[in-house]
Amino acid sequence: MKLDVNALRYLCKDDFRVLTAVEMGMRNHEIVPAELVDRIAGLKHGGTYKVLKNLLKHKLVHHDSSKYDGFRLTYLGYDFLAIKTLVNRSVFSAVGRQIGVGKESDIFEVATEDGTVLVMKLHRLGRVSFRAVKSKRDYLSHRSSYNWLYLSRLAALKEFSFMKALGEHEFPVPTAIDCNRHCVVMSLIQGYPLVQVKQLQNPDDVFETIIGLIVRLAEHGLIHCDFNEFNIMIDDDEKITMIDFPQMVSVSHRNAKMYFDRDIECVFKFFRKRFNLSYEEEREHDEGLVCDSGEDGGRLCFSSIEKSAGFLDKELAASGFTTKDQDDIQKYIEGEKEDGGEDDDDAEDEDDEDDAAAEEDDDEDGDDDEASDNGPIGVQISSLKIADQPEESA
Ligand code: ADP
Ligand code: MG
Repeated sequence: MKLDVNALRYLCKDDFRVLTAVEMGMRNHEIVPAELVDRIAGLKHGGTYKVLKNLLKHKLVHHDSSKYDGFRLTYLGYDFLAIKTLVNRSVFSAVGRQIGVGKESDIFEVATEDGTVLVMKLHRLGRVSFRAVKSKRDYLSHRSSYNWLYLSRLAALKEFSFMKALGEHEFPVPTAIDCNRHCVVMSLIQGYPLVQVKQLQNPDDVFETIIGLIVRLAEHGLIHCDFNEFNIMIDDDEKITMIDFPQMVSVSHRNAKMYFDRDIECVFKFFRKRFNLSYEEEREHDEGLVCDSGEDGGRLCFSSIEKSAGFLDKELAASGFTTKDQDDIQKYIEGEKEDGGEDDDDAEDEDDEDDAAAEEDDDEDGDDDEASDNGPIGVQISSLKIADQPEESA
């Protein structure tokens, strides 16, 4: 999805007021009736309707008149609300190039007033097909109107909370800086996703470090669940940083062992294929770690790892991420897996915004080239001096 932040500069106080009103209406309505937007925004002389037209022109809202005259936010509209809030908080003041695009996120460089480059990750749950998401309504049955804003916000909050807690425990993760709505701001990691690396000076050491990380996570009560070469960054000194946490689970999860084994297997497989680590070598590398000599022949054994439960609850609650939030997002993630997730044919009658997103997903043939220009800081930054906007509630 294109994120043209220039439009942001031309939006005025009333535009944001109406945009916020649409967002508030979406707490209870998938499509917010125009009168309700008007009532919440409280602009004089029918001003709301004029503003809605302008927002529509900039693709910040989507108009739907199938049942009644109503509006919903587009992802772009939601992006603008989050970006504006973060700019007002002085978290950053400029948005630069896109450095990553996943199925459910877009990643950009942003810069602070003093020129420090950070990373902004915008979560986009359910962007491939709105209907696929709607069909998961059951998973979140306690919410009368469940929507992608809510899920994306949860995913961002979860990622932020985990990043913060893991950083405090000295795990190699980006520094968690701030979070608003579906947007997480973190430090920029200088390096490359491991998937792009064809050669290593010390593949054994890197392998050992990575397996050690998975074990240490489990000892802290956590499983990454997507621990693969796309979510491990490595720099020129072969220092490892792990990223991408929305799918992490507790070791007390009923499928914990399966997730743990899968993470381990992913790393083994990758190192075997890319760096020709033989099985024998792998066994040697395991020796310092917890192994069993059962039928797996010296593989790591999840059940013998000393796990400390409770890491999740205590530390994450501190960032505002509750057990209930965890349950909600977990239901969505597991629903995705059961359905085989993603791209179904329903995407075709989405609006422009979503079509554009789907197209992007199409021409992205694997994360390999997606991140291929992910070298050191590229600049080309659009500064965001936004005129006169009051802070609205997040
Ligand atoms: P997704 O959930 O879409 O997989 P990730 O968090 O894995 O999102 O990020 C996708 C890509 O964006 C990564 O593979 C990496 O290239 C880049 N990226 C993400 N976070 C950072 C960061 N903090 N510093 C540098 N690059 C990053
Ligand atoms: Mg990833």
